Amino acid sequence: MFEQAQQALQEYYGYQSFRVGQEKIIKNILSGYNTLGIMPTGGGKSICFQIPALCFPGVTLVISPLISLMKDQIDSLNTIGIPATFINSSLEWIEIEERIEMARRGDYKLLYIAPERLESEDFLSRLNAIDISMLAVDEAHCISSWGHDFRPSYRLIPKLINNLASRPLVTAFTATATQEVRDDINELLGISTENTFVTGFDRPNLTFKVIKGENKRDFIEEYLSVNQDDAGIIYAATRKEVEALYNFLNNRGYSVGKYHAGLDHEERKKTQESFIYDDLKVIVATNAFGMGIDKSNVRYVIHHNMPKNIEAYYQEAGRAGRDGEDSECILLFSPADIRLPKYFIDQSKLSEERKEYEYDKLQKMIDYSYTGKCLRHFILDYFGEENPKESCDNCTNCNGEGDLEDITVEAQKILSCIYRTEQRFGIGLVAAVLKGSKRQKVLENGFDELSTYGIMSHYKIKEIKNLINFLIAEGYVLLSNSKYSVTQLSPKAMPVLKGEEKVYHKIRKRIEKVFVKNELFDILRDLRAELAKAEDLPPYVIFQDSSLKEFASKLPQNKDDMLKVKGVGFIKYQKYGKQFLEKIREYQIQNRSEESKVNQSNQEKVPSHLISYNLYQEGKSLEEIAEIRGLVISTIESHMIKVSTEGYEIDLESFVPDEYKEMIVEKIKEVGDEKLTPIKQELPTEVSYFHIKIMLMQDRLKDAI
Ligand code: ADP
Ligand code: MG
Ligand code: ZN
Repeated sequence: MFEQAQQALQEYYGYQSFRVGQEKIIKNILSGYNTLGIMPTGGGKSICFQIPALCFPGVTLVISPLISLMKDQIDSLNTIGIPATFINSSLEWIEIEERIEMARRGDYKLLYIAPERLESEDFLSRLNAIDISMLAVDEAHCISSWGHDFRPSYRLIPKLINNLASRPLVTAFTATATQEVRDDINELLGISTENTFVTGFDRPNLTFKVIKGENKRDFIEEYLSVNQDDAGIIYAATRKEVEALYNFLNNRGYSVGKYHAGLDHEERKKTQESFIYDDLKVIVATNAFGMGIDKSNVRYVIHHNMPKNIEAYYQEAGRAGRDGEDSECILLFSPADIRLPKYFIDQSKLSEERKEYEYDKLQKMIDYSYTGKCLRHFILDYFGEENPKESCDNCTNCNGEGDLEDITVEAQKILSCIYRTEQRFGIGLVAAVLKGSKRQKVLENGFDELSTYGIMSHYKIKEIKNLINFLIAEGYVLLSNSKYSVTQLSPKAMPVLKGEEKVYHKIRKRIEKVFVKNELFDILRDLRAELAKAEDLPPYVIFQDSSLKEFASKLPQNKDDMLKVKGVGFIKYQKYGKQFLEKIREYQIQNRSEESKVNQSNQEKVPSHLISYNLYQEGKSLEEIAEIRGLVISTIESHMIKVSTEGYEIDLESFVPDEYKEMIVEKIKEVGDEKLTPIKQELPTEVSYFHIKIMLMQDRLKDAI
């Protein structure tokens, strides 16, 4: 039966292969076992029940918590030719009757229902008339009171299972992996632990970034100015913050919407729809936004504030890049953000034990913000993925974003101060002592007599606290785990205090565009928007950005070429293929005349480096020039150097990030300028030969050597 499943994946969905986790889960379901699949947001859970539904006789009943999501999923299924429908409170009575009748006749492979339906005895008995071979419980964590979205109606699912004339195969899916939630699902739905799969937590196309110590608004504005063509979500902690940030961005002319529970239903719905239909690029929202969003071309998710735990973070951040294209998840961190989630836990009516549990989870989130190790590894390890790689080359910590800064001396000062304050105080007091504050508590304890008093007076309090938190995340300092968090030295602190080991810290690089595309992509995106409007469908339901990108780079010429593109199945090809093929051909014909222009100019012998220079003068970036000319970036870099030596006007230094300049110059002074390799080797990897060459050409250096 698995072959049938693979065929369905190719024919309906247009995907070549299952993801690793999907294969395991689907095989297990097809073998007839009740199965629980735990995969991250965007990991591809829907296919895990949709494809078995196609393989089994009868109907698969899907319990899904959100009405908005249901309609989207059904639209998507129908556009790829799978008969499916939904029943929820948005329908008239008569429509419900019709759909039940059609399901009874076997006209659908999937029937989605809202859990609240199960409250009606009448509805339960009506379901009995339908040949239900499988039950799929989506967002299954809603069944557990440990989960973040407990839905009492989910507790009626066991009753549904028992009531059905013949017992269906039970499958359940969630992104929440905590043991408590898992246990609840296993028990309530009758799924054994051997049939529980925690898998596929890695989302390789997502870049993880933690940005600290920056003005958040400045960062966001700079970010949007670079990425304003693309869709993104910005999460803020409170309604008030959403409003403020929304106003700030709106006043600066960005295409933004806002979403939080304080707005009325109509307004929220409108905003959500404009976003889904690509009319609105950016949403500023509280965590109320997103459960109903399967929009696949969200290119970035920025967290203006830290969420309360890693589960929430990965779920929200995971809404980026469902289509598999490069996307970014950015956490803007400031230590003050810890206060709010901590306050919520404090004020909650939870038992002491449960509070402890929530504090623990919050601390993990804080650790994520401060760790100097691979962010992806941290997340995968947290979710219990087997043997995650130690580094990913795709997060701020692995990419060596920014300079490595030696903070050994600062670390020694802090560690020594913690020791001298007898390891009895929190971060705030330790920072105050280092700063040389005259706070009552400092004076009362006689800490102004300590040798560490005021030894970091030239730092801002905030900066000192940042450093302390960094040392906590790196395990040099321990924090006792209670309401009053007390700082203590770990064994790791000793070698640092004795000067046997160094401590390093990183600083951020400049912002770059997330999604690089060409002209044809934009043309195809316009065509898609047109078709979407005509059919009243979200654009990504027609083709995902990833398919458009492949069209634009591979230039399919016929049906066969087109079916090879990821995300193009038979039905979709029939519906839309021809129109896209035509556009691609049209573009190629136009471009051929462009090409011949380029050839002409070649005949006039315009040297290659000057063609690049002309594009540079038009304001194109080096990456764009490389893309336009079909050349690698290092060639374009050498063109820039060449034009400069020939005396053309060009600001080479602007290609070197400010924070590298001094570092490179210092290294050249130290190592000499005969050879590049020794200089490069001694600098962080993100400093390129191009950067070094440029600095070597600068006058200030000539004087120095
Ligand atoms: P989840 O429910 O786990 O959050 P979805 O089921 O919505 O995730 O899937 C996320 C995205 O991944 C969708 O755009 C889907 O089409 C895509 N996808 C799923 N499986 C595959 C696959 N095997 N190959 C390529 N894309 C896939
Ligand atoms: Mg889903
Ligand atoms: Zn990494």
